[in-house]
Amino acid sequence: MPEVLAYACDDKTAQFHPTTITRREPGPTEVYFDIVYAGICHSDIHTARGEWGSVLYPLVPGHELAGVVRQVGSEVTRFAVGDHVGVGCFVDSCGHCPECERGEEQFCSGEGGTIWTYNCVGRDGVPTAGGYSQGITVEQDYVCRIPDAIDLKVAAPLMCAGITLYSPLKRWGAGPGKRVAIVGMGGLGHVGVQIASALGAEVAVISHTRSKEADGRRFGAVEFHALSEPGTLKRLAKSFDLIVSTVSADSDLDALLGCLKVGGVLVDVGLPEHPTTFRLGSLVGTNRVLAGSNIGGIPQTQEMLDFCAEHGIAPQVEVISGDDITAAYDRVVNSQVRYRYVIDTATFAR
Ligand SMILES: [Zn+2]
Ligand SMILES: [Zn+2]
Repeated sequence: MPEVLAYACDDKTAQFHPTTITRREPGPTEVYFDIVYAGICHSDIHTARGEWGSVLYPLVPGHELAGVVRQVGSEVTRFAVGDHVGVGCFVDSCGHCPECERGEEQFCSGEGGTIWTYNCVGRDGVPTAGGYSQGITVEQDYVCRIPDAIDLKVAAPLMCAGITLYSPLKRWGAGPGKRVAIVGMGGLGHVGVQIASALGAEVAVISHTRSKEADGRRFGAVEFHALSEPGTLKRLAKSFDLIVSTVSADSDLDALLGCLKVGGVLVDVGLPEHPTTFRLGSLVGTNRVLAGSNIGGIPQTQEMLDFCAEHGIAPQVEVISGDDITAAYDRVVNSQVRYRYVIDTATFAR
């Protein structure tokens, strides 16, 4: 059984320390890969801090994994030793329910449901442990191929942040002739701006202040709007075909919906903590749509990686060591990261 170095936390204070975990020997259809980089997603923080319900401590978070295949099972056909691969938010599902059949394994309705990359129990009965570790064993059907054109350290954040934005942008038709606004330009939003722009849409950023304006334009935005300036949303009334909100802070849904053209779509991926209210008239009067979106399945995640390779899309990352994880969490919460922390697992030591 491969023993690997990892970083875990033991309670809601989310203080990370080095540890050792055991991964299973790859079965016939599984691959074992060395995790080289792991992104820090805001979801890791919510989970580790117990903000999203019960936690299986000690917890090794991380669902943005990028690495190199080290070992393959006897029946593995899709991967070979040395391949660059990535894993996102889930590592297994039933494989034959309607959702799995159509490649939306994140919504698995079969027995056992979706097996999340961490804070879940795998089919082997062992709690899953995520990317803050030096290696992992995963069923080949839940592993994506990272194209050579994408550096592993920028590939990692694509596995959650990338697909979280790619999926709704594709579903709701971001493309030439469409005006798309991305609300919030953090770890998710800064990738969304790049993807929407590469899809051919005319992209606007709606941010709290103008502090990220130069970056936003570098990522492909042609407009940048600051909510701190009075009247911004009023000025943007009926401006966009599609708005994707990545902010987890509570926002004025009626005002945002008002920025949509007739028939426009507002998609939320930011998942604000509190219940919210809005006037249904904001939808009904102009055929608008309010939608949600939750990551994407394996086929679409692979499509996203290939798209990002083709269009040179790369999250902007800051590489940190294992010992930096605890402090990095506060910096993510305070929006101080530009724009995604990626842990270099070569820094792990006993
Ligand atoms: Zn995530
Ligand atoms: Zn299923």
